[in-house]
Amino acid sequence: MSYLALVNGCVIDGTGRPVLEKGGVVIKDDIIVEVGDMDAIEIPKEVKVIDVEGKTIMPGLIDAHIHLTGLRTGDLIREPLLTPYATLVARAIRDLEALINAGFTTMGDAGSIIALQLKRAEREGTIVSPRIVAAGYTLSQTFGHGDQHFLPIEYVDARTTKMPSPLSSLICDGVDECRKAARYALRAGADFIKIMATGGVMSEKDRPEYTQFTLEEIEAIVEEARHAHRFVHAHAQGTEGIINALKAGVKVIAHGIFIDEEGMELAKKKNAVVVPTLSIVEQILMYGKELGIPEWGLRKSKEVHEIHIANIRKAYEAGVKIATGTDFLGGVKAFRYGDNSLELQLLVEKVGMPPMDAIIAATRNAAEAVGLERKIGTLEKNKVADLIVVNGNPLEDIKVLRKPENIVIVMKEGKLVKNML
Ligand SMILES: [Zn+2]
Repeated sequence: MSYLALVNGCVIDGTGRPVLEKGGVVIKDDIIVEVGDMDAIEIPKEVKVIDVEGKTIMPGLIDAHIHLTGLRTGDLIREPLLTPYATLVARAIRDLEALINAGFTTMGDAGSIIALQLKRAEREGTIVSPRIVAAGYTLSQTFGHGDQHFLPIEYVDARTTKMPSPLSSLICDGVDECRKAARYALRAGADFIKIMATGGVMSEKDRPEYTQFTLEEIEAIVEEARHAHRFVHAHAQGTEGIINALKAGVKVIAHGIFIDEEGMELAKKKNAVVVPTLSIVEQILMYGKELGIPEWGLRKSKEVHEIHIANIRKAYEAGVKIATGTDFLGGVKAFRYGDNSLELQLLVEKVGMPPMDAIIAATRNAAEAVGLERKIGTLEKNKVADLIVVNGNPLEDIKVLRKPENIVIVMKEGKLVKNML
């Protein structure tokens, strides 16, 4: 049995309640058994005590939209196909280490078969990794965002391709094929189903505004997910695609570039979560060219950049639930695992969130976006002990989270994965 207490720290519990200036957390095995002010909680004698005075205790961070690919460039056309699969996996394992070292105790993979396949190794404890929640194969219509129209069509579908890539999709058109593809994704072990409900920035021949899948197709996929007690996470950038997804009962809206007032109202009514992934656009603009992002990707990123931020700001101000996700792939410079707290910084600096709300977006709300809100995301009695200790106070300067050396303790399910104290 492990029995441990972190004492004398500033506690941000992720619920939105005021911070405890001098608080403690008691953890028994993998569960939080006490959280509170130092003078209000009891620390049993047999407990191992770690004094974290001057530091901040908070829930482990969650990136709710990421792709574990092992890629090292922005060349999404050639690199995934031409790099040996085992090499991609080996790099992906390094990326997972970097991610948990930076304080991320859970990740929601929104499409990459590597994440789904490494999940067992993560559960076994074979690799050092955040908790993996993964979609595996993504569902896309023909000429959809996941159809990778820069490739010959016979390379694209995961079920038939002889050129598999971590980003291979399931191409489906019409209600019946969509149902079947959803079942295939579940068969592969998907924790949730990822669909492409609009065009995108990183697909060659479509645009973010294009609507993909019909309402009926999305409804069928949502129904299949619901039958298996799972949910749907949609890549949705255009106004109509966002509305279709929400109407059909999609729980997570990724990107949300052209979300309008109707979309915002629906998101609130349906209790959906929007994961804007501001980081990827920011990084493509900054480093995309040197990393080999194709010209059309650079151009479209530039076109949507400002409107994206403006609309997410409106959505936040309207009370839409926002969660953090970076869309990072694992590249060397940009899109790099371990720099995922950039998203919190952007939510503060560009969207205008107070740091506390950015932290809630990365903890409580992100837990909801990966379907684990009952287990993780806040420091409360009876929740699973996923937490971090930070050197400094992210409420005063959110950027302290961006330096992995400031994350001095990482605990996942009650186990100290990192302890620099
Ligand atoms: Zn994505």
